[in-house]
Amino acid sequence: MSFPDGSPEAVARALVAYGRELAETGAVQVGGAFTTDPAADAFIKSAPEAFLMGVLFTQGIPAERAWSGPYLLSLRLGHFDLERMVRSPEEVARAFETAPALHRFVRTLPGWVCSAASRLLDEYDGRAASIWPPGAHVIDVTERLLKFRGIGEKKAAMAVEILARSFGVPLAGLECGTVAYDVHVRRVFLRAGLVEHDTAMDVHRAAEAACPEAPGSLDLATWLIGREWCRPRVPDCERCRLGTVCPRYVDRTVVGVGARSARP
Ligand code: SF4
Repeated sequence: MSFPDGSPEAVARALVAYGRELAETGAVQVGGAFTTDPAADAFIKSAPEAFLMGVLFTQGIPAERAWSGPYLLSLRLGHFDLERMVRSPEEVARAFETAPALHRFVRTLPGWVCSAASRLLDEYDGRAASIWPPGAHVIDVTERLLKFRGIGEKKAAMAVEILARSFGVPLAGLECGTVAYDVHVRRVFLRAGLVEHDTAMDVHRAAEAACPEAPGSLDLATWLIGREWCRPRVPDCERCRLGTVCPRYVDRTVVGVGARSARP
């Protein structure tokens, strides 16, 4: 069935197609990496604990910088040993504070990192992959992630989606996933006519309607469109992946946001 350009159905179909394309290529961001530093990228991809810590870093700074964080932290500490982090929180704090600071929220992140290390040791035998074992349900993984200080609904949705898409973790219940209620996602959903109102419930329902079998699979596609083309002030509709089907409500804006920095 074909839908007229400009309709929500046509936009949804284009978004789903872009999401599938990204999943097939294993893309994380444009270019396929978490960060522009190959060593930092390899660190995130090879160590589930580094990925989990990376999720904590994705707060208020650009994506590439956030996902480089765990690797840079390991260099400054000289290790990435969870027990040592828990034993020496002041050492972790110093590593964050040393110029140039590892993060914008230099007073908050060390506490989150040490708390996450402690929870990993206490509840998962130090293995972050045990949070998302093969076959785990999306809802269970989400709930486990939400227990970590520094991970809210938005980061949990992002993490689950990355695990399923980029790391190929076979999770059950993908139909229960969703897109992160992120500034880029919200802007694209508004401008592309998928929602009339910028509320988390409207965005999540629109994602479900667009891709009932895996709403979360739209997350990266939408985020990338928002970051690459549907920019707040000067959207580039001509180059945009949704350019041919989007109704282009470019005067719609997202207000009162704390931007998600990071996605991979
Ligand atoms: S950049 Fe233009 S075409 Fe693309 S989503 Fe935004 S408004 Fe639509």
